Amino acid sequence: MNLHTLIDLVGLGWPALTPTPQGLDIAATCSIADLYAFRGDASWTAVPLIGACCECLLASFKIWNAATAGGNICMSLPAGAITSLTVALEGRLTLLARNGGSREVSAVDFVVDNNRNILEPGELLRSIHLPASSLKKRFALRRATLTHLGRSAALLVGTQAHRGGEMVLTVTAATRRPVQIRMPEGVSAAALRHALDHAIPADGWFDDVNGTPAYKRHMTYHYAEEIRAELAAQPLQAQSGALA
Ligand SMILES: Cc1cc2nc3c(=O)[nH]c(=O)nc-3n(C[C@H](O)[C@H](O)[C@H](O)COP(=O)(O)OP(=O)(O)OC[C@H]3O[C@@H](n4cnc5c(N)ncnc54)[C@H](O)[C@@H]3O)c2cc1C
Repeated sequence: MNLHTLIDLVGLGWPALTPTPQGLDIAATCSIADLYAFRGDASWTAVPLIGACCECLLASFKIWNAATAGGNICMSLPAGAITSLTVALEGRLTLLARNGGSREVSAVDFVVDNNRNILEPGELLRSIHLPASSLKKRFALRRATLTHLGRSAALLVGTQAHRGGEMVLTVTAATRRPVQIRMPEGVSAAALRHALDHAIPADGWFDDVNGTPAYKRHMTYHYAEEIRAELAAQPLQAQSGALA
């Protein structure tokens, strides 16, 4: 191992949560407990998704209060629920390089495989930005676990603006890395299945003790269809100041 520096990120004192008209900035050091407790503006109708994803963590009291949003993302487990959350809400991650530079990446591009991400040696995750446009959406979540309180075997989130438009479907836990597909409003069940066939290769399903690839594939297709039907059944609302 070529380890020569350890940094106590919590000691840097980054503000945990910073809501602005542009969206929500979450420090990498924000605890799961603080994230769970966040309540945003009433127009941010996707805020309950934050709590729902936190509840997907198989978390003891200690993890709940000490584990961080950034730690969960950087651990880069397929079942990383904060990864699921930030990808589903089309988050942008700010990464700090050892030389003081920084870069921004889409949350969907950060985790590339089980326990693998795009961080360069010495690079840090500084923060996650969830755009207000995503926080104002409606959402549907489905999760499969082999055991009650078990680690997620499949965690799917669909989002759509209240006025309609494209449905963004995010698949995590079942796949080795997050998969996101964008489908037009009113997409058919057959077209959704076809899009999933295209987006997830045969070796893209995650094989571990929480479920076989065949099980995870089955649950993913089943839940994707439930999410499609749920969002399609909700009445659309005309764009207004509160709901967009
Ligand atoms: C029994 C058990 C069950 C669990 N079940 C689940 C589960 O079902 N789903 C799930 O998602 N998680 C699960 N976890 C993981 C847990 O909830 C935490 O998300 C995880 O341990 C990360 O916690 P942490 O903040 O302490 O990060 P750490 O453990 O401190 O960090 C994890 C890794 O990320 C690196 N890292 C941390 N922060 C940064 C940063 N800002 N920039 C760059 N690198 C960074 C660290 O160096 C380390 O390599 C489980 C953990 C345990 C012990």
